[in-house]
Parts: sequence; structure tokens; C-alpha cells
Amino acid sequence: MTTTPEQPPTAAMRRRTLLASAFVGGAALFTASCSREDGPGRIGRTPRPTAGTEGTGSGEATFTLTVLGTTDLHSYVLNWDYFKDAEFSDDDGNHIGLAKAATLIKAMRAERGAATTLTIDAGDTIQGSPVGFYYARIEPIVGTGTVHPLAATMNAVGYDAVALGNHEFNYGVDHLNAFIEQVEFPVLCANALEWQTTTSAYPEYVIKEVETPEGVLKVGIVGLVTPGCAIWDKANVENKLSFNGIVEQAKITIPKVKAEGADVVIVSCHSGSNQGSSYGDALPFPENASTELAEQVDGIDAILVGHAHAEIPEQKIANLTTGKEVLLSEPYFWGRRVSVMNLGLAKQDGAWGVVSSSASLLNANTAEPDADVVAAFNDAHGKVRGYINSAIGTSTAAMPLAAARYSDTAAIDLINYVQAHSVQKALAATDVAGWPVLSIAAAFIREGGLPAGELTVRNAASLYTFDNTLNAVKFTGANVKEYLEFSAAYFKQVDATEVAADDLTNADGPDGRPIPDYNYDIMGGLDAPLTYDIDVAKPVGQRIANLAYDGQPLADDANFVLAVNNYRAGGGGNFPGLDGEVVFNEQKEIRQFIIEWVAEQKTIDPALFHTVDWRIVSNGRVVSVTA
Ligand code: MN
Ligand code: MG
Repeated sequence: MTTTPEQPPTAAMRRRTLLASAFVGGAALFTASCSREDGPGRIGRTPRPTAGTEGTGSGEATFTLTVLGTTDLHSYVLNWDYFKDAEFSDDDGNHIGLAKAATLIKAMRAERGAATTLTIDAGDTIQGSPVGFYYARIEPIVGTGTVHPLAATMNAVGYDAVALGNHEFNYGVDHLNAFIEQVEFPVLCANALEWQTTTSAYPEYVIKEVETPEGVLKVGIVGLVTPGCAIWDKANVENKLSFNGIVEQAKITIPKVKAEGADVVIVSCHSGSNQGSSYGDALPFPENASTELAEQVDGIDAILVGHAHAEIPEQKIANLTTGKEVLLSEPYFWGRRVSVMNLGLAKQDGAWGVVSSSASLLNANTAEPDADVVAAFNDAHGKVRGYINSAIGTSTAAMPLAAARYSDTAAIDLINYVQAHSVQKALAATDVAGWPVLSIAAAFIREGGLPAGELTVRNAASLYTFDNTLNAVKFTGANVKEYLEFSAAYFKQVDATEVAADDLTNADGPDGRPIPDYNYDIMGGLDAPLTYDIDVAKPVGQRIANLAYDGQPLADDANFVLAVNNYRAGGGGNFPGLDGEVVFNEQKEIRQFIIEWVAEQKTIDPALFHTVDWRIVSNGRVVSVTA
């Protein structure tokens, strides 16, 4: 399920495993693409009944409305990995990008009838891939007249409505607003409010009219976003936008949509269905609220879920007041899937009601890329590939990751330096400014690392191949000790002063399987060294010796800020002590921090960040490890 044996599963992937829900998509029913004759929401022909409708309510459906959904595209249009400069691939055989999703969308419209099919997206559109970065920072769309390739391509698909995701605010409100100017569909977000008011800053909803044999059906589409924007993008939204809770806002917006005559209400909700918040109590509203939305707000028929990057073909949640089932579906992320939601409708006493509903996912790996989308994206693809392969700096030395799992290397020190430095800079004006910063990193890929000489974006990215974002939490001296002991379980018990790497590393973990390289974390200090020995002759839990910070033995109650990736912070690898207060979480990729730092430095010299602070010992004697 991962790209390489070394790749850690992301939090989303772990969630997906836990869900283990019936994946009923898989097969694309069609391969031919068709052009769309009818515009969104126009009066069209009567569809024939569809096989996908299952009875869940009372009465027979006389009409089926189809709602197609994508989410979390993150500026992926083609099935392309920019950092590898090659076709995207992973061990699950997934394909990514809007171009393939568009083929599935167009084929489904042809099958169901374009006039009775709505296409929506649940946000996180303009950030994530190098395409998003390029059009925000290298050739910004603001003030240049450059059309954002996601505007061009989503216009080519013909969306009926798109909701804002939290990442839409990453490059500032001006950038987002320039994108909105360029699209031909409404961009919805009911709960982004003008600063400290109750006025929505973006359209709350749109009503689409669909013709049926029994007259016009009015479909309300509402956009909502996780209120986490208020902290993750504080620097961009403060004094501009406030964020209401999802349930709190829906209780205001849904009645308006109903009052305007909506017979059916769909929410495009950039907020996961698994409850909880990565930001704890820092906001009065939860991060992931799609389940509460279904349970607590009356009048919603279906929710297209986003943000969690989870794969949910179909989920039904009963409203706590009405008992009515709300249909949820989440099409994974980066265009890997398209949700197909079927709402079976019938008129009872003159009023439309949903009498049956079902959903499934289509898999992008069954589709060819849509020619219109590819044509609208070609220029951008070439430009971004050129950028990724362009020189951004020079390195005075090669910094390979090959030996990073058993020795203190410049490659890992660079990652830890950039992480700790970025966190320290961001916390300068907070109440933890001045706290000593530590950082953890692991060697993901033994073949990765920086060459000596010219560095391209791609070289810089090879140090950190995954999409983890940077977090920081409060941490104590006792946490440091416990964490390092946990990490040191990666080593086999060895009583010798010479050992081959394979006889030392990847010891069996508690599950009986070898601990992967990505679960061996190396910790380092920023302003002063964190020094320690790992005594592999000792049993697990008793291996860390001579632990010191700035040359002084580490006190259990010493206070630190720990820079950590979101995978660890979210429980990946089950490392201890990470439940302290979150003090930094901008939802920005560590890889991107490294790329920007290299570009800023111009010349990378290990003298700035590399010191040998930890070593492998056996009964106190230094161990020499051979590759
Ligand atoms: Mn996302
Ligand atoms: Mg998101």
C-alpha cells in the first residue's frame, strides 16, 4: 500500500485500513469520454432509472438525482509525480489527477444524463502539488493575468459548485480571490465570515434547478470548511476572516436554503467524518465535523466529505432529531476516486423527498486522461517540470542518507535543522518563544540525499520524499528519554564492537515484524546539541546513556518544543510523549520547508548544521558499523 517498502503509511492510509469498508467502486463502467452538451443545472431530459438505487426509505423513487464528487485535488491534474519526474505510482496501483477523474465524470454524465447529474468538489484545490506552489510563488496569478491551471482545468470539467478547503488560504486571501475570479462555477463557503461578523465572506450556497417528469427539482448545494483555518493560516486570515463551527453555521445556512425552496440539500463539506481535532481545544469547534453535521442539523440529504483524505464509498448517519439517514461519501484524495451519490426521489403530498440513497466510488486507475483537461493543462505541466528540474542552490558536500540509520549524518541533521529552525522562527512572538527546540527525523529512503554541487528542487525534495507536514508540541526532558528509548528498539541486541548494518538494524518489533527505517527517529537540538549514546548490548528500554542537552545531564522537568512530522504527531509508529500542547501546525509539507530553505540559502554547507551528537555503543564501547 505504499510507494516503497520504506514509505510510512500516512495517517489517511491508516484511517483507510481501519475503515475497511466495502469498496464498491473499482471498475470504471466506461472508457470513452463525451463532451457535455448541457450546462450545469439546465433543464434537461428525463433520465432512465438507475440500477444503483437501493430502498432505504418509504416508497418507490420516481426520479434519481446523481451527484458526482471529487475532493482534495491539491493541484494534481495529471498522473504525475513531479519530484520523481515520472508517472505517479504506488503499491496499491492508484492513479491520481483531475484529468482521469474528469473522464469518469464525463462518462457518468453520459450514462445518467448530464441534465440530472451535478458535479461538485469539497476543496483543497490550489495547494499541495508543485503546481499549486508554482502559480502562487514562481509565476503568481495575482496581478499577472496568468490563469491558474486548476481554474482552466476545472472549468473544462464543468463543475456545478466547489467548496473551499483549508489549504485554499495557504497562499493568502488575494491569491484565493484571484483564483475565484477565474472560475466559471460558484465557490462556496458558508462559515468563512468577514472578520468578527456573522456575514459570510463567500457564497454560502447555490441552488440548481433540475427538470424531472414531475416538474422542477431544486437542489441546494452548501459549502463548509473546517474551522482549523483560523489557526493553521492565522497569518493569512487574521483581521480578514473568522471561521464559524460547521454545525453552528449549518444551523443558520440550511434553513435559508430550505426557505429558498430547495427540495434536496447537499453539503460539500471540507471536514472529515471521523470525529476529533488535531488542534485539541485550541478552537471552540472541532476540526472534523461531518458526522455531527449529519446528526445534529436537520434538512441535509447528502454530504460530500473532504479534508481527511479517507476513502469512504458510502456511509449513512441517522439524524438525531428526524431519524432520517444522511448519505456520506469521500473520494479519497488527489483525484484517486470519484464519488457517485444516487438520490432516489419521490413526491409525497406534492413535496419531494429522498426515499432511497446509495453511493459508490469510481477508481481513476481505470480511466484514460480527459483530452480537454490535458489540453488545458499542458503549458502548466511543462513549466512546473522545468521549475522542478531547475537549479536553486549549491551544496558544498554530498549528503547521502545511506548510513543515516546507524550514524549521525549531515542529511538527517539538515532535516532536523530546517524543521527546528522553521518552528523557532514561527514561534518567535508566542509565549513559547525562547524555549529550546528539538527535532526528530528518520531516513525514509536509503538511496535518497543531496549530491555535491548544483541542487535542483528535485534534489532537495529527495531528502524528504513524503508529504508529511511540520508540527511542534511541548515536550519535557522525561519525554525525550522515553522517546529515544522507544526509537532505539530499532536496533538488535548486539554485544560486539564491529557489526554489519543488517545485523544491527530493523530488529523485530512488538508485532513480530522488522521495525522499518521510517520508525527509527533521530533527535537533535537546534541552539545546543542533544547528545546521547545508544547501548545496543542492553535490552530495549535501557539503552540510552549519557543523555545531555548543551553538555548538561537532561532534567526530567526540562521544557522543550519538539518539531515533529504530522505522521508521528498523529500516532504513526506509536511513539510516546507526543500528546503535549500543539504549538505549531501550519499544515505545510516538511519537503516544502526544505526546498524553500535551500533556495533561500543558495549555498548549503554542513558546517552550519552538522555535528556528531549520538553514536552506537555496546557495553560502553563504540561500535563500528559496516554497510
Ligand atoms: Mn487535503
Ligand atoms: Mg484539508
